[in-house]
Amino acid sequence: MASTPETSAENSGDRQTHGFQAEVRELLQLMIHSLYSHKEIFLRELVSNASDACDRLRFAAIAEPALLAEDAELGIRIEADAKAGTVTIADNGIGMTREEAITNLGTIARSGTAAFFKSLSGDEQKASQLIGQFGVGFYSAFIVADRVEVRSRKAGQPAESAVRWESGADGNFTVETVTRPERGTAVTLHLKEDAKEFADAFRLRGLVRRYSDHIGFPVRMRKEGEATLEYEVVNQARALWTLPRTQIKDEEYRQFYQYLAHDYQDPLAWSHNKVEGKREYTSLLFLPAKAPFDLWQRDAVRGVKLYVRRVFIMDDAEQFLPPYLRFVKGVVDSSDLPLNVSREILQQDPEVEAIKGGLTKRVLDMLARLAKDEPEKYATVWKEFGAVLKEGVVQDHANQAALLGLMRFASTRQEHNTPEVTLADYVARMQPGQDRIYYVIAETPEAARGSPAIERLKERNLEVLLLSERIDEWVMGQLTEFEGKRFKDASRGALELGGLASEADRKAHDEQLKESKGLLKRVKDSLGERVTEVRVSERLRESPACLVLGEDDMGEQMRRILAAAGQKAPEPHPVMELNVTHPLVKYLDGRRDAAEFGELAQLLYDQAALAEGTQLPNPPEYVARLNRLLVRLAATPAS
Ligand code: ADP
Ligand code: MG
Repeated sequence: MASTPETSAENSGDRQTHGFQAEVRELLQLMIHSLYSHKEIFLRELVSNASDACDRLRFAAIAEPALLAEDAELGIRIEADAKAGTVTIADNGIGMTREEAITNLGTIARSGTAAFFKSLSGDEQKASQLIGQFGVGFYSAFIVADRVEVRSRKAGQPAESAVRWESGADGNFTVETVTRPERGTAVTLHLKEDAKEFADAFRLRGLVRRYSDHIGFPVRMRKEGEATLEYEVVNQARALWTLPRTQIKDEEYRQFYQYLAHDYQDPLAWSHNKVEGKREYTSLLFLPAKAPFDLWQRDAVRGVKLYVRRVFIMDDAEQFLPPYLRFVKGVVDSSDLPLNVSREILQQDPEVEAIKGGLTKRVLDMLARLAKDEPEKYATVWKEFGAVLKEGVVQDHANQAALLGLMRFASTRQEHNTPEVTLADYVARMQPGQDRIYYVIAETPEAARGSPAIERLKERNLEVLLLSERIDEWVMGQLTEFEGKRFKDASRGALELGGLASEADRKAHDEQLKESKGLLKRVKDSLGERVTEVRVSERLRESPACLVLGEDDMGEQMRRILAAAGQKAPEPHPVMELNVTHPLVKYLDGRRDAAEFGELAQLLYDQAALAEGTQLPNPPEYVARLNRLLVRLAATPAS
């Protein structure tokens, strides 16, 4: 290990070596060997940690002002030494004790983070850019440094109880107690050969402006020129949201978002508002362009950053937005909440509930505006977050109308499967006499489009919405109508053509029914309990048969969700519908041999189940049955 000039002899006795937690070790390997795109994000992450440390001290000093006393102006310093090839990022924030350094800089705090990081390791470019979102920003230091030293003194602790932490990213780190006159933390990076560029002050200034312009604390660097000891502030150091909108450039909003969200992409949109009067607060909310890796993780932390009169109070205050807007990033700064507000208080405070209502409206307005003015961007929103917004359609009754307006569907009216159709589009195109909004749900949009259940509707040129997300069965099951038109799942119950069915249609159907009575009974007897009924279909045109569920039966999607959760769904008892004009069904009708009839009826049933996306309980049996039929066909002389 390299010699370390600051280690005083009297303290060297308590030097300890620790191994990194296994996940950290893995992470470091990735940092060292694979992450090289966007190397410079290390600076954003370390400055962000320094800023957090200042925020936390300011917060702690509300209850204990003495913590700040000796050095009241909070800030960050960046020192570059081109000769030595080092960069130091120092803050006079909260600092760490020896124990805290061991825990915070040797383990990954949030549960599940490591697993998710691993899942990304195939896409290293992305991983390096998103590192801060995983709560592992500190370790990005090892992208550019082969050795990292941290000196820290906790606020309120004596100078002699400071800690020096060091690691060469070799799986271990050492800690020892040292004397440090200053409060707070200094992180020194010994830059790798291919990262020496970052010891250049000019380069660093540019990066600070780019990534850290709008953190709320001054970042200082040495003034340019030989050996000067004077420092100057190189960032704006103003809380962006406190400025009037007219004074903020779009580029500044974008940069603030990137800092706030640890993202490298621009946000799709933002909404900046100041509410005055009885209740006073400022909010700045952003729509990211990409879903976070943990969008579907139940216990992941969510929410906005909460400030009270510009004092940082907490990250991830989830009480200010409903769960279905969990992808929104931003800041809320309240003038009314007490500084010592806790999560428990937030949960009960009617004030918070009112702010939440206001912010929810803002976000929904922002989405509606984007949908109207920039449909391409909105298409991205729907692709990334549509499934989450659908939760809101069910859960947020007060805003249901707005949310219904935000929904986008694939439809038989489009050739492609990109969801672009709105419910208003659908209703505007409804045919005279049509009073249902037809939809069908399947595993994929292609399967929905090809579903036998909608053959008749397609023939009649009636538009059908095509749904295929896991959540769709649940969502659509909760919705009854849009603008007075009822939703109708085309694969359940009767088709409810209502005024659309002509007299001729009805006559033809009755005729078929009369002629097929015997066939229907034979098929039912042959299939037994697998079907509740066999009937003549009004849905089918090309396919010989399909299975139809009752309006309230559990569908295929719900079954899969239950199965994935290890629960057993009740057995389905579908109705089987036959297309009695289909040659295969006619052929079936002509079979007098009971065994042959039974085999073919079962085959039609299995095919109908397959077309629905159901997994057959016994696929080999199905294949054997089909092959017996094909063998018989092969034995027939060619005509
Ligand atoms: P995150 O910032 O998301 O918590 P990091 O990997 O960036 O994750 O940092 C890990 C932890 O190390 C922080 O949560 C904090 O407790 C501690 N830490 C890092 N830098 C500092 C600093 N400059 N001052 C005080 N604590 C720090
Ligand atoms: Mg961090």
